Amino acid sequence: MSSLFPALTDEAAAGRPALRFGERSLTYGELAAAAGAAAAGLGRARRVAVWAAPAPETAVAVTAALLAGVAVVPLNPGSGGKELGHILSDSAPDLVLAGPGEELPAPLGALPRLDVDPAAGAPGALPDDRARDEGDPALIVYTSGTTGPPKGAVLPRRALAATLDALADAWRWTGEDVLVHGLPLFHVHGLVLGTLGPLRRGGSVRHLGRFTTGGVARELNDGATMLFGVPTMYHRIAEALPADPELAGALAGARLLVSGSAALPVHDHERIAAATGRRVVERYGMTETLMLCSSRWTPPDPRPGVRADGEARPGTVGVPLPGVELRLVEEDGSPVAAYDGETVGEIQVRGPNLFTAYLNRPDATAAAFTADGWFRTGDMAVRDPDGHVRIVGRKATDLIKSGGYRIGAGEVENALLEHPGVREAAVTGEPDADLGERIVAWVVPADPQAPPGPEELADHVARRLAPHKRPRVVHHLDALPRNDMGKIMKRALRRG
Ligand code: ATP
Ligand code: MG
Repeated sequence: MSSLFPALTDEAAAGRPALRFGERSLTYGELAAAAGAAAAGLGRARRVAVWAAPAPETAVAVTAALLAGVAVVPLNPGSGGKELGHILSDSAPDLVLAGPGEELPAPLGALPRLDVDPAAGAPGALPDDRARDEGDPALIVYTSGTTGPPKGAVLPRRALAATLDALADAWRWTGEDVLVHGLPLFHVHGLVLGTLGPLRRGGSVRHLGRFTTGGVARELNDGATMLFGVPTMYHRIAEALPADPELAGALAGARLLVSGSAALPVHDHERIAAATGRRVVERYGMTETLMLCSSRWTPPDPRPGVRADGEARPGTVGVPLPGVELRLVEEDGSPVAAYDGETVGEIQVRGPNLFTAYLNRPDATAAAFTADGWFRTGDMAVRDPDGHVRIVGRKATDLIKSGGYRIGAGEVENALLEHPGVREAAVTGEPDADLGERIVAWVVPADPQAPPGPEELADHVARRLAPHKRPRVVHHLDALPRNDMGKIMKRALRRG
């Protein structure tokens, strides 16, 4: 296998910018030197934890370990002691890598620590990763814990290379691109796509520290070409646009705007398109599989660097990326009969981008794969006749069986969001003597003093979709429970 990061050993790239976090930045030459120094401190470690603060130390630590062939467990600095304790006892790292200034909480006290200094090192000390096996574990990333306790997905080197190269192919992502993002670095989105992605291409990344629409506008107006975000960020952008011509201009001039990690509400997609003329490219993936689909865009001009938009088909995540095999399967395991935009099935996938196992969970690993090697994503979808995938929701929480129908929560959520009195919405099912399950809407009103009534919302949904899709119960909330990626925690809604 070739190197994961060829630009680190390319002398011609040594002076090019690689990373910028606020005021602190590193060129490829500086990153190579610092990663070489950190790699020398890894000793005989086989697996290390990395304190994944949004800082250059994280990027240096992860690149050093990956090149040295040491598996990395990224830790969320915001995790409570219980979650950190679970991840540490499950993954049993030999060392923890962190910036010298970081105060690490108690569960980490027992581990030997290696301080990472982005200003250290000399050229030429970088380990050569070209002879490493493509099946070697590179990252062990814990899932978001949306549906249960986080599981450690073991991602081999092959998966990182495959997913980043497929995205480069689909999005014409090159070393000329400058990415801006404000995502955490302990999940796939911010770490693999947002940090390792630019480094693999030889381009650069600017991290906002904390996401603000002002930061996005500033960076895009100052040479950044792409933005990666989660739907809550695009929601904030959509809300800010009417009063912020600078932001509108910045987005209009970007090469590529990408949303992922959860469904982008149609309403936000349309508002951004109306204000900027740009269509956000939606992509779908998960910790275990890395990236699976992206909305296809037909560039007016196929050269790199040319502006790229998603299709005017919001609510879809596009088509499988190069190298990804995807099928929709009925409950009994047979492939769905038709791609007719209506028949719902579970998404199953195969490809070089997949994880190899859940750490220490042979039961969960075995249950996640079919006998012939397809991974069961647990996500339900339909496909349009031309292959576009529309995610209906998660099998466990988003598919409501009501009155003999199977109704996807996302469709009802999108309809609710089109009501001017609704700021945020989530839909669940609850047991109903008559219907089997009834549809329940959890709504954050635009004006808490004048929340839209249940009848009005039910009629609104019935008119847009169909009478059987109307919510029977409406709860008003101040905010929806969300995790650090902005994903709605439906488990918490139901318990609450
Ligand atoms: P856990 O597996 O621990 O319950 P999680 O599934 O939220 O948590 P991740 O691997 O971070 O953990 O998230 C992957 C899931 O996010 C996918 O299975 C899918 O349900 C959802 N997702 C990601 N991108 C999109 C998208 N563009 N549209 C809709 N859903 C998406
Ligand atoms: Mg999951």
